[in-house]
Amino acid sequence: MSDQNWTLEAIKELYETPLLELVFRAASVHREHHNPNEVQISTLLSIKTGGCPEDCAYCPQAARYYTDIEENDLMSVHQVQTAAMRAKALGSSRLCMGAAWRNVDDGAEFDHVLELVKTVNKLDMEVCATLGMLTETQAQKLRNAGLYAYNHNLDTSEDYYKEIISTRGYEDRLQTLSNARKANLTLCSGGIIGMGESKEDRCKMLLTLSQLDPQPESVPINALVSVEGTPMEEVEPIPIFEMVRMVAVTRIVMPTSVVRLSAGRTSMSREGQALCFMAGAGSIFAGDKLLTTPNPDIFGDLEMFEELGLKPTSPYAKHEKPEIREEEVTAEGENVKWSRPGHRIEANVEYTKLGKQKRKESKV
Ligand code: SF4
Repeated sequence: MSDQNWTLEAIKELYETPLLELVFRAASVHREHHNPNEVQISTLLSIKTGGCPEDCAYCPQAARYYTDIEENDLMSVHQVQTAAMRAKALGSSRLCMGAAWRNVDDGAEFDHVLELVKTVNKLDMEVCATLGMLTETQAQKLRNAGLYAYNHNLDTSEDYYKEIISTRGYEDRLQTLSNARKANLTLCSGGIIGMGESKEDRCKMLLTLSQLDPQPESVPINALVSVEGTPMEEVEPIPIFEMVRMVAVTRIVMPTSVVRLSAGRTSMSREGQALCFMAGAGSIFAGDKLLTTPNPDIFGDLEMFEELGLKPTSPYAKHEKPEIREEEVTAEGENVKWSRPGHRIEANVEYTKLGKQKRKESKV
């Protein structure tokens, strides 16, 4: 089947394949397009934490919920440079900078992000950013600053998205991905499993991603890490074999993409992670935190690499390093209006009230 021709039925059938057969098929596809003994180490750095106006039910950075994350303003060039150099010294070839924004606003903060991108580009690391919704002009500016990839996850299927987030629409996600693509950025887009979605929702998300032309170069698969104070605080971790299954199906449906084993590794054994690598995961995120949630320690990860005989991937293994350019950019007729569906999600409303009450109490 050619890359964009997957159907929901075909993906669902794959998803229901007996696990070991599925892993074998995924491992075979993986070997056709990737070196199975290489896994990229990426570092996710929260350059601006907390205070986000959105209501994503899983996220401790949403200002409306009461969680114990430490908020911080945009990091300085020096802070980011130091973090990037440390990450590089420990084997990371990619730095993803995340800012808890609904969308990128033009102005001093965005200009500062452009400086951060240039700084990391000069360290010869793949620079990725996840800043919320993005116009085509902003995407071009990021590209000219030397950005390699833009991350914008679909999270889940379009139907289930409405159960998780009420402050923005799925079509805005797709529009942002399209804006980034038009600016010649590589795309990083995936989702989170274990949020109460059905298997069909997972397959639908993969179908949508697989139909992007070209498919995203990078597809992170996260397992929900439930955080106290968010509407998903009581959700149990997803069983490891569901994660392996999801990685394997993603591998087969998007054969050339790098499938990233992302959040949720702290509750996975090394054996479980090894099975994910076997099934086609080609990257992990390193660092003791993934934005705000816990992550395995890098030295433990390096030990696991040693045990499994894995080597960290070099930067720009698949695409060239973007040059920093000084060019004026404008995209004609672009739509900068983002939607705000505003439908009611009971759990989000309840935790918003709870958050308000707790903040009031903490001030007394
Ligand atoms: S996931 Fe992103 S957009 Fe949603 S609340 Fe968290 S920081 Fe904001």
